[in-house]
Amino acid sequence: MAFLEIYYRLKIDRCQSFLRRDIKDNVRIRAFDLRICQRRTSCPRCYSFCNRLFMKGDTLSKKSVKSSISTEEQKEKKENTKQSSLLGSVDKVVDVVVIGCGPAGLALARALSERNLQVVCIDPNINKPWKNNYGVWLDRMESLQLTDCLSPIWSNTRIHFDNNRTRLLPFAYGKVDRNRMKKRLMNICKENGVVFWEDSVEDIIQEQSYYSCRTSQQEKFTCRLVVDATGHFNSFVKFDTPHDPGFQVAYGIDVEVSRHPFPIDEMLLMDFRDSHMEDSLEAKTQSSMFPTFLYAMPMSSTRVFLEETSLISKPPVTFEHLKERLLKRLHFLQIEVKNIFEEEFCLIPMGGSMPSLSQNILGFGGSAGMVHPATGYMFSRVMEMAPVLAKSIENSLLHDEPLSKNKTISIWNELWSHERILQRDFYQFGGEYLSKIPLNDMRDFFWAFFMLSDKEWKDFLDFNLIGSLQRLLFGLHLFSKTHPALRLSLMKEALQNGKLKLLKSVIF
Ligand SMILES: Cc1cc2nc3c(=O)[nH]c(=O)nc-3n(C[C@H](O)[C@H](O)[C@H](O)COP(=O)(O)OP(=O)(O)OC[C@H]3O[C@@H](n4cnc5c(N)ncnc54)[C@H](O)[C@@H]3O)c2cc1C
Repeated sequence: MAFLEIYYRLKIDRCQSFLRRDIKDNVRIRAFDLRICQRRTSCPRCYSFCNRLFMKGDTLSKKSVKSSISTEEQKEKKENTKQSSLLGSVDKVVDVVVIGCGPAGLALARALSERNLQVVCIDPNINKPWKNNYGVWLDRMESLQLTDCLSPIWSNTRIHFDNNRTRLLPFAYGKVDRNRMKKRLMNICKENGVVFWEDSVEDIIQEQSYYSCRTSQQEKFTCRLVVDATGHFNSFVKFDTPHDPGFQVAYGIDVEVSRHPFPIDEMLLMDFRDSHMEDSLEAKTQSSMFPTFLYAMPMSSTRVFLEETSLISKPPVTFEHLKERLLKRLHFLQIEVKNIFEEEFCLIPMGGSMPSLSQNILGFGGSAGMVHPATGYMFSRVMEMAPVLAKSIENSLLHDEPLSKNKTISIWNELWSHERILQRDFYQFGGEYLSKIPLNDMRDFFWAFFMLSDKEWKDFLDFNLIGSLQRLLFGLHLFSKTHPALRLSLMKEALQNGKLKLLKSVIF
């Protein structure tokens, strides 16, 4: 027994210290791990390593081993994996490699690891904070139990349509505390044994029925399923037809000011007032033809995040132009900037074609076209969809080894079910319409939109128009609230561009 104890301890030390192995060595380690697993009852500490280094196709399944261990052992396992999870010591076939640790990648890695799948996350920016400033509706984060990762939270949300029309929406809004949220998701992942690897993936190579992700440092991670969560622009995901989206563009600044006019208990979602653009005919025309609005998050009486936003344009409005407009607006509002903490350059592809649902690589988040095609929001959606997708991935991996093409297609179909595609088409019609109308029409459109019941407009924003009847009623109701000139332009757009896709989205 004493000999065995020393043997196991050596094994643990070795597990914790190794980073890379060549294939030959790897095979030896796997055989070695299997022996340890089979003797696990006499050495519970080893379990965590066996669990992580387990090879698919080994005679003992991870689940069968797991069912026999006690809660105490599980606790210890968690501790051990916590310490070693950043070592990246993975020389075997894991269940899933997630490429990208943005909100989508981490939300999915967390959900997969909570289902006991073996996950490796690869991202060159793992240890850097997320770059974007995210805003979300509080109610959606409440249902996800993530409200403690919001700061600040505003109890109301304001919209100014023009100088005479304003609305206070009865929904609280929060700014995501990027550091806290990322840390929260990563900590859960680490506790569940997710391995993080700091590098970028250059290639994905299919080797028989497995996939190898090769990084820029020539590391290779082999898995049964690859998830591309690299965001909107770095995607490995392929599209069936040329991807031709519209763009949300915004130029933002997080600033210290001497004073500002925004009530600090209100988040300003959209301010379409444009009195600052009346100093010349050219500025006035530009403002009318290329509508932009101010998005403002007052953090204190002297600190505020301000963003001049073009909701959707095709081709995209330039950052220089937005910056110019923002400075003009600040000058008009007599806001004196004392210090700029951060500048944000926001470019979000909106709508466009769908990723191919028959490819072997799964997308999630920006790479899978999950952004709301009419608003540019996605954060809460990936948090909500991650557990749904993780369940589907777990089911596919459980029943099929290696993962067949049909199984990957069925996971894609879970992400993009028929209903969700129809909903996207409906939203996309809205987004494309908004990209074409001048400022005054946009004001009237949103005035009508927010005249709907709170549930109706919120359902639209929250991806909750699931049934065709719901979409039809929403469309008819909104139509009834708009004034005649807008109705005419909506009808024209529906006939010229919405066509069959729009019709299907409200019928099927
Ligand atoms: C400036 C900005 C502000 C936004 N604000 C909001 C908002 O307020 N609310 C909202 O709901 N949505 C918002 N969005 C939309 C959407 O939520 C974000 O784009 C979100 O960041 C997308 O998440 P993601 O995880 O898909 O991609 P990303 O956040 O872009 O993360 C992708 C990750 O993949 C990594 N990566 C890329 N290539 C590779 C590679 N080859 N190998 C390994 N790793 C790789 C990157 O380093 C990055 O960490 C905003 C978008 C932008 C651009």
